[in-house]
Amino acid sequence: MGDENPATKRACIDMEYSLRPRITKFLLKKIDGECCGDFSCFHFDVDLKRKWVWISEKTPRECIKKILPDFDIEINGSVVPSVA
Ligand SMILES: [Zn+2]
Repeated sequence: MGDENPATKRACIDMEYSLRPRITKFLLKKIDGECCGDFSCFHFDVDLKRKWVWISEKTPRECIKKILPDFDIEINGSVVPSVA
């Protein structure tokens, strides 16, 4: 990601920030109580061009399993990434 300019980085942070309340609400609904103590085990990546949120590979597999496949439906609005 060495060619990322400040504007792109900024837009990325903005998108993540605007999505955070939605993601948090979703996690609260899906994860009953706690998962690894809190939600700190969940990491997300955003695809600016496609406006798509990915669950990062940094997230433990058993935690990912708890939120799939509803994550894509609720956060991205589709199960399969739409091809541009
Ligand atoms: Zn967890």
